[in-house]
Amino acid sequence: MRADTNNVDLQQRTAQGDALAEASSVEGPSGTARVSSRGAGAPEHRGPSEALRESEARLQALLSSLDDLVFELDENGTYLKIWTANDALLVVPRDELLGKTHREALGEEIGNSLAKVIGRVLETDRPQLWQYCLDVPAGSRWFQGRVAPIAGSRGASRRFCLLVRDITEQKAAEKARDQAEEQLRHQALYDGLTGLPNRMLFHDRVKHALNVAARDNEELTILMLDLDRFKDINDTLGHAAGDDVLREVAWRLSKVTRKGDSIARLGGDEFSILLPRASEKDAAMVVSRVSSCLEEPIIVQDLPLRVDASIGLAAFPRDGADAELLLQHADVAMYAAKAANGGFAIYERLADSHTPDRLALIGELRGALEREELVLYYQPQLTLSTGSIMAVEALVRWRHPQRGLITPDEFIPLVQETGLIKPLTHYVLDRALRQCRCWMDSGRPMKVAVNLAMRNLIDADLPGDIADLLKLNGVSEDLLVLEITESAVISDPLRTEAVLARLARMGVRISVDDFGTGYSSLTYLTRLPIDEIKIDRSFVTNMNTSADKEVVVRSTIDLARNLGKQVVAEGVETAGVLQRLEELGCHLVQGYFVSKPLPAAELDAWLAESAGLSTI
Ligand code: C2E
Ligand code: MG
Ligand code: MG
Repeated sequence: MRADTNNVDLQQRTAQGDALAEASSVEGPSGTARVSSRGAGAPEHRGPSEALRESEARLQALLSSLDDLVFELDENGTYLKIWTANDALLVVPRDELLGKTHREALGEEIGNSLAKVIGRVLETDRPQLWQYCLDVPAGSRWFQGRVAPIAGSRGASRRFCLLVRDITEQKAAEKARDQAEEQLRHQALYDGLTGLPNRMLFHDRVKHALNVAARDNEELTILMLDLDRFKDINDTLGHAAGDDVLREVAWRLSKVTRKGDSIARLGGDEFSILLPRASEKDAAMVVSRVSSCLEEPIIVQDLPLRVDASIGLAAFPRDGADAELLLQHADVAMYAAKAANGGFAIYERLADSHTPDRLALIGELRGALEREELVLYYQPQLTLSTGSIMAVEALVRWRHPQRGLITPDEFIPLVQETGLIKPLTHYVLDRALRQCRCWMDSGRPMKVAVNLAMRNLIDADLPGDIADLLKLNGVSEDLLVLEITESAVISDPLRTEAVLARLARMGVRISVDDFGTGYSSLTYLTRLPIDEIKIDRSFVTNMNTSADKEVVVRSTIDLARNLGKQVVAEGVETAGVLQRLEELGCHLVQGYFVSKPLPAAELDAWLAESAGLSTI
């Protein structure tokens, strides 16, 4: 749009300039004077000099209305006439211009450029534009000159009309626009915090490097890095400290890579390094340099922080031929390194172990969340005292486009070792609360239990996120039950306690899942704000055929009841077990005997069907 406006502007000026070139084609009184046809209108009876004066006066009036400067020059660039009446517009005083050449008045460089322009005008017999910059006392100013041949002038007395416009403001606007565009381009491709390329640019670079590697028959390696326990820094020292660490890590990484390697920050605490023409051996050396560059503590807020990274490696052509796959495999290797408690993993070696499929799945999970491939099934919990269903447990499944329905056991254990558990839990909570809202709206409010992983429990953002989701979906707090495991609490009791306390204050209910399998400490049962205990199915399912298991179930029910907590038995597969649990005073039962986990619509149908039955 701007360019068009400028064009119109230019055309208008061109028209003015041409009118001028023709109007000024009137030669001196002694010459073969004539008035151009555009200057027509002079009465017949007037003499030529009178007509000339009138024409000149009109021209002068026209020129004084312009902001442009108008000069008449000869072929050498000598100023013959200054048509501009307003001296204030002249950059060089009138008497320093008249009779002087452009070169004499404005210097060698600008003089030469005008000479070239005049040369082109002579060559083409057409007006020519050019731009130049002049240093004036107030600073530099930009001008656009337009040189047009004056019609009728010939040979040695060839004359030119020079129209000059100050375009400093226009130039400044253009520069600002270019800078803004450059800034936007930079923002779109670079990470604002570290200045490193972002995921998009990195992806592009990998693609390009792969093309080169394929063409030249060369190797290429990608390292994927994720800082270990970075969340702890953010949570305990604040985000500013976290930012300092990320900047320092970026700087250290740039010191241990070669020219030609690319480092990127892909998001959060994830970095990636592209090593063109690097064999696995070269890459392993970079890995060891990366590890040692992180050995020295990073000083933040006067505290020496030890920052480790888990590093995954994938190499072209062995581990993948396109950028997508290679990055995904490097990601998978990184997750494997993380799951093995930090260190370094190579994608190919994972393929030798027994879990390549499972690892590959983790690499795909991020995209699966975006594509909403994860779905929730709901397993009802039967209240034994009333025979009614007033609570369900939300259990996630992955509807994989190629592999079909994948159960959580295949991906949750690995995911919960990585940062991916946060978006996954958010996703599950969001969907579960939406469903909870639907049940409220249909007049059948139902408590919904959602499973949390250990990493969720040390996430200081979790209570706030949950509060937002409850509000967003209009669900009251007491309808949400959060299932946590004993081992999650034990592994970091201080931080877990803080998060749980906040959740409990919000009115959300807390349940201890898989009770009996962890390293239980009875102190936690009394200290933590726990509302419910879920006895693990490994004790429940066979409790009628194993005296030991029955003892565990019975004691747990007693313990829970004595502490004033609700008790749930999961893994109830037979009527006999259900009956025994009822005798022992268990509050709720969950298991295949009642129902398998079902999609919400099927559960609704099942509930409607079983509504009339007193014994399920
Ligand atoms: P969990 O929380 O202990 O869930 C109960 C598991 O027992 C479910 O397996 C359920 O299908 C299964 N189950 C229910 N009744 C019976 C029964 O009568 N007999 C037997 N043998 N099994 C029964 P599922 O759905 O495969 O989930 C497995 C685990 O994955 C869950 O164990 C939970 O720890 C985890 N999980 C599932 N969804 C999520 C989630 O959204 N987030 C997190 N962090 N973990 C999840
Ligand atoms: Mg559970
Ligand atoms: Mg369980």
